Order: sequence, then structure tokens, then C-alpha cells
Amino acid sequence: MRVGVVAEIKPAERRVGLTPAGAAALVADGHDVLVQTGAGVGAGFGDEDYLRAGARIVSVDQAWGDSELLVKVKEPIAAEYGYLRSDLTLFTYLHLAADRPLTEALMAAKTTAIAYETVRDESGALPLLAPMSEVAGRLAAQAAAHHLQHPFGGPGLLIGGVPGVPPARVVVIGGGVVGTQAALVAVGMQADVTILDSSPRRLRQLDEFFGPRAQVVMSDPLALEEAIVDADVLIGAVLVPGAAAPKLVRADHLPSLKPAAVLVDVAIDQGGCFETSRPTTYLDPTYRVAGILHYCVANMPGAVPRTSTRALTNATLPYVRKLAGLGPDLALAGDEALQAGLNVRDGLVRHAGVATAFPDLA
Ligand code: NAD
Repeated sequence: MRVGVVAEIKPAERRVGLTPAGAAALVADGHDVLVQTGAGVGAGFGDEDYLRAGARIVSVDQAWGDSELLVKVKEPIAAEYGYLRSDLTLFTYLHLAADRPLTEALMAAKTTAIAYETVRDESGALPLLAPMSEVAGRLAAQAAAHHLQHPFGGPGLLIGGVPGVPPARVVVIGGGVVGTQAALVAVGMQADVTILDSSPRRLRQLDEFFGPRAQVVMSDPLALEEAIVDADVLIGAVLVPGAAAPKLVRADHLPSLKPAAVLVDVAIDQGGCFETSRPTTYLDPTYRVAGILHYCVANMPGAVPRTSTRALTNATLPYVRKLAGLGPDLALAGDEALQAGLNVRDGLVRHAGVATAFPDLA
């Protein structure tokens, strides 16, 4: 099969859909891999890396027009809608429930559109969202450590302290993929870490995993209030599937926090779990409410495109190989995870979440 990779043109996006290692695996499977000139540069991969992997370097028109399966990162933006066709399978993050124009464009073009974020494995997990949550979680602890420093707007605390001086107190709210990775890095930096989660099963897993390195606490309103008053850092990492993040830290909580606390709301892409959160970008990542520093970058993995691209390909490649090897009909028929990823096909909405968002299109 001809598998295409294009340069991402959404502003500030530097990741690419496939690493040279991923391209090499597809070439070894017997596929023809077409990579747009310069597609990997932002992620640290030159055209020569793809050539060495056995891929062909082509123009943007060829990468879109000649491929049967296109592996991307972000959803196509309006300038790319003209490339959509009925004999194209598009495999990428789509977030269609928030994007009516793209849903309509995919339907009109009769493109087969499979969304990374809705691929769901047999355990119910979202394997193609997890790598970006891992990246964002680890970055959250780094962002907190950075913003605790005085030159970066913080109170002038070293997150791990030093012998004889206590470390910063880090409270992670939500101990899923993001929260676990944030806690892991914070623990690694010697911070004093507490993780709150509302799932008893998850609490048991976290307790087993962290042992004495972190405190694991049931997230009820009282426990939350107790934990946040002493915190130097609050990391928001809750997710209620299919819903906006619950506002666990309210505006009226802020006066009870340490005035120099740093709030990092990773859940901002679902509206944020602090009432005073609003999305920011890397151009201007922080702002203050009642003097308290808020860090709410909605696309955290964008800062580390080299790591993020490799993490993404690690997760997507088994599905890409299956789609390319069997073709979309057989691959979808034989794989429930991919079926869950199918959003649009033959001009029809094929995902319940998208149908709920746009009942008139379903
Ligand atoms: P996850 O499902 O793995 O974990 C969420 C956790 O929140 C679960 O363990 C759940 O039990 C817990 N939870 C739910 N309600 C809670 C409550 N009231 N109190 C405490 N815990 C509660 O999800 P994830 O992959 O870790 O993602 C977390 C959030 O981070 C999501 O909103 C996700 O979209 C977001 N995210 C943001 C970025 C970014 O760049 N800003 C990147 C990746 C993920």
C-alpha cells in the first residue's frame, strides 16, 4: 500500500505522523512510503533519514494525492480539505465532535477517517491518547519545578529542596496517566508528593506502584481542601470520560492556598479542573489570579516534538501496519480497537460521540 506522511501545517505543530523507524518498518512490510519534503524537520528528522529508511521524498501534492493511507498528527485544517478523497484512509487525531466543518468535509469527500483519540483497546483504555498524556504528565512536573524558581515568577523554591531544607509539596489531583507520570517525575526530583484520585481501584494501584515515595489519598472535598492549603504546587490531571473536567479547585479556594503556589492545569484541554483556569499557549503560558500563578498550556506535548513524535509512532505503528497490510476493510472488520476509532466512512458519521455532537449530520 502507498502510505503518505505530510508536513503538519497547523500553527506551532512540529510533530510528524511517522518516524524514520516507522517508515522503515512499513517499507520492510513491502509498502511504498511517501514523505513530503521536510515533513520531519520540526521533529528532528531530515529527508535523508527517511530516504535511508527506504521511503520516497515527494511534494505535498504527491504525499496527499498518491497515498492510500495518510498518517498524520493533527486534524486537517481548511487549507487541506481539498486533498480529501473517497479512496483515502486518514489516520490522525481528529477531535471531530469539536469540529463541524471538518466533519462535513470528510463526509462530503467520503474519506475513511479513523481518529487516534477514539481507538479503544480491549481493556477500555485509549492507547493512542496515552503517549501524549505521558508526555504532558512528565512535562507538568518540569513546568512546576521551573515556575517555582524566582526568575520565572515563582516563590524561589527548589522543588526537591537540599539536605537540611525540606522539598516543595506537590499535590497531584487525578492519578491516571498524566497524574502518575507527573508524580513520578516530581518524586524523582525529590519533591514531597501527594496524589488524590476518586477511584478506589486506581488508589490501590497507585499505592502499590509508589509505595512510600508518595501519599495516595481518596479525592473527596474535605481531603482536597486539606491537601491544597499546604501545597506549593497543584497539578490538575483529572478526566471524566466524555465530560468537561470537574472544577475541583474553586475560585473561593484561592485565598486559602499559599500565595506563592504554582497551579498547573493539564486537564485544561477538557476545560480545566481549577475554576480559574483558562487555556494558554507556550507563547504566554502563565497568568495570575488573586496573585496565584496559573500554567494552563493546552498543547503541552508540542514543546517536545522529538520525544512526542517517537512516542506517538511507538503507539500508532501497530495499527498503521495493520491498516496498510490488510487494507481498511479487513483491518477494521478484524480489529475492535480500530473500529472504535472509525469516525467517518462512505459519507456517514460512524462514531457515537460525533453523532451526539451533530445529530443533524448523523
Ligand atoms: P486518565 O483517564 O488516565 O486519568 C484521569 C484520572 O482522574 C483517573 O484516574 C480518574 O479516576 C481521576 N478522577 C476522575 N475524577 C476525579 C476526581 N473528582 N478527583 C480526583 N481524581 C479524579 O486521563 P489522563 O490521560 O491522565 O488525562 C488527564 C487529563 O489531561 C485529560 O483532561 C486529558 O485530556 C489531559 N491532557 C492534557 C494535555 C495537555 O497538553 N494539556 C495532554 C494530554 C492529556
